[in-house]
Amino acid sequence: MSDQLPPPLNPPVRLLMGPGPSEIHPRVLRALAANTVGHLDPYYLALMNDMQGMLRTLFRTQNPMTMAISATGSAGMESTVVNLIEPGDSMIVCVNGVFGERMTDVAGRAGAAVTRVDRPWGEIFEPSHLKEALAKAKPKVVGIVMAETSTGALQPLEEISNIVHDAGALLLVDAVTALGGVPVEVDKLRIDAIYSGSQKCLSCPPGLSPASFSPAAVETILNRKTKVQSWYLDVGMLAKYWGQERVYHHTAPINMTYGLYEALRIILEEGQEPAFARHALNHKALKAGLAAIGIKYASNEAHTLPMLNAVHIPAGVDDMKVRGGLLNRFGIEIGGGLGAYKGKVWRVGLMGHGSRQVNVLSFLAALEQLLAEQAYGFEHGAAIAAANAVYLTHK
Ligand SMILES: *Cc1c(COP(=O)(O)O)cnc(C)c1O
Repeated sequence: MSDQLPPPLNPPVRLLMGPGPSEIHPRVLRALAANTVGHLDPYYLALMNDMQGMLRTLFRTQNPMTMAISATGSAGMESTVVNLIEPGDSMIVCVNGVFGERMTDVAGRAGAAVTRVDRPWGEIFEPSHLKEALAKAKPKVVGIVMAETSTGALQPLEEISNIVHDAGALLLVDAVTALGGVPVEVDKLRIDAIYSGSQKCLSCPPGLSPASFSPAAVETILNRKTKVQSWYLDVGMLAKYWGQERVYHHTAPINMTYGLYEALRIILEEGQEPAFARHALNHKALKAGLAAIGIKYASNEAHTLPMLNAVHIPAGVDDMKVRGGLLNRFGIEIGGGLGAYKGKVWRVGLMGHGSRQVNVLSFLAALEQLLAEQAYGFEHGAAIAAANAVYLTHK
């Protein structure tokens, strides 16, 4: 019998430097292995309350309706859309990469009359890009991605929020990659519905999607004429478990909650501002290193994400040889391009616990070695020197 068993579990040790999952903090891995209690155990209920508090701190919001959806970031997307949209409602979706594209699909399936506004990949949206669509579509909801992981572009939201609210619409934001790496100002920016994911800058395994709904969004949900199309993601029902009533809805993923709880504690222990500064510094060092060997960013240089570096693969360099070499010889995973960027870009994540000098230098050293083996001309050692120069000036 035993010789028919598949092999024992023994996953390789990888340095996760792609678009997610990111490197998990060892304390989070230990938290995941803690004793499982029941989902109505007083210990667990207290933990949920504390986690909600930490999520509000990180989202910078007072929203009572702040929780973690029991599924990955895409379920967060789906939950915000299906709760706000009723069949026939008008929704604008801003598309400048894969995740905006995904949101149009989710919104269409939820029955929204979707107006998509497109920008070239790597670019961001200015209010002027939305004016006409807002006047024409009179949307109930406008959806936009804050950190577009497929292109590496960081979307500023202040002016967009003003124009969306002036038009009487609700603002829905994808902060899957943003949360934990840059400030996410839910209340200040008047964001009505927002979701994230546990496996990007929160350095937890995939499986939970922190989400928050403004009082205006909650009112919209309470005034629905139709039932929320998804039973599992019905926020009104979920709120009865996360709120005082503690009504059973679905069995909470207890140990994942332990993991996210510890991940949030780690971020707040370091401090949000120091964590954001660390992301900015490591991004700057990586960027300097890549620039020194002629590798350019795919997104608008004025709006590059600190936690996700999407760069053009240099002409003549074999994508698979480099990514395969990184993985098989150095144990480093980076991401390839998605959609329009397939085969054209690499995506290098410096997310959460993964945003560290040791990872920047390890990656650049391995990359230089792999590029040197191909006929790509560059000054050997230049990437490491340039990155280290950035660290030296920030001592
Ligand atoms: C990763 C990601 C998602 C999807 O999250 P999953 O956890 O893979 O479901 C959505 N939006 C953005 C911007 C992402 O980076």
